[in-house]
Amino acid sequence: MSFSLSSADYVEYTKRAAQKIGSEKDYITELDAATGDGDHWANMNMGFEKLVSESDELAKLPVPDMLKKVGMTMMSTIGGSSGALYGSAYIAAGKAVAGKEKIDREVLYTMLRAMLDAMMTRGNAKPGFKTMIDALSPAVNALKDGASLEDVKKAALDGAESTRQMEAVKGRACYQANKGVGHLDPGAVTMAYQIETLVDYILFRRGK
Ligand code: ADP
Ligand code: MG
Repeated sequence: MSFSLSSADYVEYTKRAAQKIGSEKDYITELDAATGDGDHWANMNMGFEKLVSESDELAKLPVPDMLKKVGMTMMSTIGGSSGALYGSAYIAAGKAVAGKEKIDREVLYTMLRAMLDAMMTRGNAKPGFKTMIDALSPAVNALKDGASLEDVKKAALDGAESTRQMEAVKGRACYQANKGVGHLDPGAVTMAYQIETLVDYILFRRGK
């Protein structure tokens, strides 16, 4: 079954993602405290709260402009590596979908692919480096392979879980004596939350 999201719909998704991230404060903070500096939840939460405060304005923009503005807000609001990574990713997504009025499955793939490529370039990172890329990349591959949305979500969640046994190559976890082995990467977990929330929202809308 097909789907089609307007900017207003995507903004509704960001509100749901803000709620999900907001509700996982202790868990995500603990994950980043174990392998990083403990600020990942606060960084992401600040960014999503800001997006919620801009939701009326964002909802009125054409899809490419909305995505670029999400990127600019994330870049300026989220601190740390995540701000630069999500900022570049959303700005690249906006450029990649120039002229598109709605987000359908093909546009979603184009967006997420552009985000992944931008994150890999900006972070100088690849899949397997124990970062947020390890949740995004499997979801992008699943979309490309024509998987069901449920399987796209599962790919992201499994991808986040797969970071537990990875040795960090990028990010603060690579300075740990054991390179973070045994711990989940916090950025991969919050990335999986966003993909999970987006898929659930698309499935919810289809069901309406
Ligand atoms: P910081 O590491 O600057 O404190 P955050 O705590 O907000 O920033 O984000 C940490 C997350 O950012 C990590 O869990 C990882 O997923 C991601 N990350 C860090 N460095 C990179 C990188 N070079 N490439 C891709 N992702 C990265
Ligand atoms: Mg941090």
